Amino acid sequence: MKNKKTILIIDDSIENLDIISEILREYDVVDSTSARSAFEIVKEEHIDLILLDIIMPDIDGFEACKHFKLHKESSSIPIIFLTAKSDEESIEQAYDLGGIDYVSKPVKPKELLARVKIQLELQQLLFDLKQSQDELKLLASTDYMTGLYNRRYFHSIAKNIVALDMREGKESAFIMLDIDRFKYINDTYGHDIGDRVIIYLADTLKELKRESDLLFRFGGDEFLILLPNTSQEGAMHLAQKIRGYIEEQGLKIEEGKIDFTISLGVSVLHKSDTEIEGAIIRSDKALYNAKESGRNSIATS
Ligand code: GH3
Ligand code: MG
Repeated sequence: MKNKKTILIIDDSIENLDIISEILREYDVVDSTSARSAFEIVKEEHIDLILLDIIMPDIDGFEACKHFKLHKESSSIPIIFLTAKSDEESIEQAYDLGGIDYVSKPVKPKELLARVKIQLELQQLLFDLKQSQDELKLLASTDYMTGLYNRRYFHSIAKNIVALDMREGKESAFIMLDIDRFKYINDTYGHDIGDRVIIYLADTLKELKRESDLLFRFGGDEFLILLPNTSQEGAMHLAQKIRGYIEEQGLKIEEGKIDFTISLGVSVLHKSDTEIEGAIIRSDKALYNAKESGRNSIATS
């Protein structure tokens, strides 16, 4: 949001527009002598606040307010009415239609400036609050180290994604994977290199998976890939590609290369399943079997 706010003044009297523009000269002011041309202005320009006259020929202020509130590009712009009508009824109507405040005409400069300032500050506060909420949401759903979605996010979205497949009679698959003897890597090369191995694995998984597959860091050295609309064969194909790639490449560091391997468990959500938990438990069990069978391998369940 730019620092200098833009205010749109709508009044059929050019004299009024001049007076108000002068009072609000510290802001960027756009003016319009009719509601109709103002409807076009809000489509093209970012407007922070509207000052709206009530009595106007053609479309009056109340009708104009309804229009602004109905249209996406202007529905969230606060509207202050400018009214010569100080009777209770029109003030009530102004609020009912979504006006946020009103200023009586003839306009008193200090009052107008104060009301405009308060509304703009309130808008800025609401904008900042929304941004912090968005940042918090992102923080709560991602893993800081790898930038991947975390386990909490998996639980909040997986059901919906899989339900969509199930409704259409399609299968979804899961690949649970975990680094083999990762404790040994940490103990031998240090925790920082351990971190680099995790980040490298996350980046590799991002590269190898399909666009539509969703990748999560499930825990320390454990990752989960959700493959919507995918059969067991499809999931096995990706699992083999990942296993082989990691074994072959290892992580190249300044001092040489860290060889490591991973084990993978593959499961499919069957058409008869009613919950995804069963498939998650099966992929976990398959991963356990892959570890038991000597690691650097893939098992299904
Ligand atoms: P296994 O083959 O059975 O999986 O053996 P493992 O040594 O990998 O055992 P396990 O998966 O239980 O160990 C995970 C280790 O990962 C334990 C923990 O100290 C380490 N770890 C968890 N998160 C991080 C991290 O963010 N960075 C680093 N460097 N290590 C981590
Ligand atoms: Mg491990």
